Amino acid sequence: MSKSVDYQGAWQLMMNAGTLALVSHLGPDGDTLGSTLALGEALKRAGKKVILFVDDDIPHTFRFMPGVETYQLPKADVPVPCDLTVVVDASSKDRMGAAEDCLSAPILNIDHHISNTHYADWLLLDPKAAATGEIMYLMFQANGVELTETMALNLYTAIVTDCGFFKYANTTSRCMMAAADLLQYSIQPNEISDLLEMKSRDTIELLAKVLPSMTFYADGRISTMEIPYELYNKEISTDSFIYYPRYIDGVEAAVMFKQVEPNQTRVSMRSRNVDVSAVALSFGGGGHVRAAGCTIGAPLPEAKKRLLEVLIKAVEEA
Ligand code: 5GP
Ligand code: MN
Repeated sequence: MSKSVDYQGAWQLMMNAGTLALVSHLGPDGDTLGSTLALGEALKRAGKKVILFVDDDIPHTFRFMPGVETYQLPKADVPVPCDLTVVVDASSKDRMGAAEDCLSAPILNIDHHISNTHYADWLLLDPKAAATGEIMYLMFQANGVELTETMALNLYTAIVTDCGFFKYANTTSRCMMAAADLLQYSIQPNEISDLLEMKSRDTIELLAKVLPSMTFYADGRISTMEIPYELYNKEISTDSFIYYPRYIDGVEAAVMFKQVEPNQTRVSMRSRNVDVSAVALSFGGGGHVRAAGCTIGAPLPEAKKRLLEVLIKAVEEA
């Protein structure tokens, strides 16, 4: 069980360290990257030595984020000495990837997932925050940390990624106020929106191939789409695909299956009300009530069968 810390407590822990390793989660998104990059910049400005880790490729979409080129790939067998590990936006320890093996310093976890497994020594958790970027912003405010234009750009990107540009149920007045303040640092919201929404032709061509896989279950309350191993290409972003099964009249829960290895299927879920984080958690994943994911160690058809058994029950009981 982690010890809970508040904004001051978390900042103090970091101020007591000389060298800090900051870790973003596997399958990095705008929130984990933006929050980590802004924190890294704040810590460097406070005179700290900072190393950033992410055990994954950074999608092209996020390459515009200032400082993103400073990320290193953790190597399980190369220990990295530091005073404190800060894990950002990751609800379970396995989301650190190989960073879990090369870092042995105590862990501070800053997160907003309801499914957080309390794996860290210290935890700054706020499931009401739309994004970890919102928590980071509030922590900076509470500790009088000055923002720079690049920190603001990274935090704004973090927030809009996770609240879908203020469309999702996690959007609050507090989240909008944080974003409104960040806009004072020469940020052009339309430019960030364009950068995040832009798709490659490869993505749209793949979408055309996988749209016909759309299938409905539970009287149309569940919609699924799938990318079999033959069509899977690590280089092609498919994060936007879940939009299609999700926004269909009558659909309560949408699922995207992606066979990333012959025996491994990535699952992405979105819902209107049903708690998909509980479904994901039962397969070792996690997330939020209305957006969650997991990886199932089975080929796609078997993974789909196993997941649907649980999801259909959840939808029917709701
Ligand atoms: P996505 O479907 O966009 O990959 O993920 C939706 C949400 O679920 C995100 O907040 C993400 O952090 C969380 N999530 C996705 N996959 C996993 C997973 O394998 N483990 C955990 N703990 N959380 C996940
Ligand atoms: Mn997040």
